[in-house]
Amino acid sequence: MKLFKNQKLTLYNSFSKKKEIFTPIHDGFIGMYVCGPTVYSNVHLGNCRTFLSFDLVFRYLKHLGYKVRYVRNITDAGHLENDADSGEDRIAKKARSEKIEPMEVVQNYTIDFHQTMEKFNALPPSIEPTATGHIIEQIGIIQEILKNGFAYEKNGSVYFDVLKFNETHHYGKLSGRNLEDMIANSRELEGQSDKKNPQDFALWKKAEPKHIMRWPSPWSDGFPGWHLECTAMSTKYLGEHFDIHGGGMDLKFPHHECEIAQSEAFCNQNPVNYWMHANMLTLNGQKMAKSTGNNILPNELFTGDNTILSKPFSPTVTKFFMYQAHYRSILDFSSDALEAAEKGYNRMKEAFKNLNTLPTGKDSTMDISAWKQSCYDAMNDDFNSPILIAQLFEAAKFINSVKDGKASITPSDLEILKTAIHSFVFEVLGLQEESISDTNSTKLSDTVALLINLRKEARENKDFATSDKIRDELTAIGIQLKDGKDGTTFSL
Ligand SMILES: [Zn+2]
Repeated sequence: MKLFKNQKLTLYNSFSKKKEIFTPIHDGFIGMYVCGPTVYSNVHLGNCRTFLSFDLVFRYLKHLGYKVRYVRNITDAGHLENDADSGEDRIAKKARSEKIEPMEVVQNYTIDFHQTMEKFNALPPSIEPTATGHIIEQIGIIQEILKNGFAYEKNGSVYFDVLKFNETHHYGKLSGRNLEDMIANSRELEGQSDKKNPQDFALWKKAEPKHIMRWPSPWSDGFPGWHLECTAMSTKYLGEHFDIHGGGMDLKFPHHECEIAQSEAFCNQNPVNYWMHANMLTLNGQKMAKSTGNNILPNELFTGDNTILSKPFSPTVTKFFMYQAHYRSILDFSSDALEAAEKGYNRMKEAFKNLNTLPTGKDSTMDISAWKQSCYDAMNDDFNSPILIAQLFEAAKFINSVKDGKASITPSDLEILKTAIHSFVFEVLGLQEESISDTNSTKLSDTVALLINLRKEARENKDFATSDKIRDELTAIGIQLKDGKDGTTFSL
């Protein structure tokens, strides 16, 4: 029997702003769409948190026995600099500055994104469509919206008529905004653009002569608006009405609000049953963002090559750190927090290593079945990974007690415990199977820390020949020491 038959999953629906019991449209099947990256730069750790949050959702739904079609797009056109309808296309801008083809930019950063997700052991989506691969579908939807009277053409561009739409529908129902307030707070001056109202958004933009990414359409040579691609691709692969739509919190407005409006204007159907939004990763208390430079790249983390890091951290530890917070909570990044996560992860891993050699007895001093259900209860409660991890620590504590002869477990309970730990650690959390590189990276860190201390002692004794020798020989084998005001750190 499929697990989902007796595990009641509830999830927080950003649309209703409350936790709801999850019921799929088609019994046993789930359609899930998540807004993917705009591939104009290396994916930073804040982006990764969003995709890892939905990897957890995908993995748990699959673990419960659902057949999940997970669609996550690649935005390779139409995303302008300021998330609105003006400015340069992010990819075209990068191509211009690097003097390469836009599709080379797309290729470079798509590969980087895939490699990063692989390092984190995130599962690939079922379908990963691109905006440029769905221009025909996007034009088709614009034609329907025009026919239904919710859009207008002006000078070769087509805009969504938000005011007209709001007469019969509700624009702002996802983000909880009200159109009258938006109009009152609008700063765009009349007559500055082809739009009838500042709230209108582009479905199709006529390309300026210098704009290099362009396609023919009934209205002009141009390109689709950013919001439209997700409507086109989710409809194509999941239908006009599907189960789950996810993305980063910052996409709720305008991106997701516009997706709902487009779907309703196109086929009169509220497209999504459950909206899920993952919260952000902050650095120095500020949102990580490419545009502000306040971010850290996954590779900097894995090599330790960033001044804010005391040492390198493995992808598994980073993921463990992220999952110790709930996906809807803000998580602040710091080297200290990662070190604490690493200690906890290693402690848990050491305890679980004893599973295969654990002695068994006549009775169990812990109710293993109840413990296992409490792991499910945590995940059934809106994918509460921090509670799940707390339960795994409980199991680790119990395993250590059994090993020390202070607790006991029956052979059949031990089998239940082993299977459950395997499922939750590897299948659901997707932490990598115990890998030698993890152990090696810890040993390496400890060894370098030892050398850093010896060098410090040598310098204090004014033995500069020795301190320089330690630094130079480490440099020669590719380990860079950095002296800062808080001590010496290293990178690979
Ligand atoms: Zn999207």
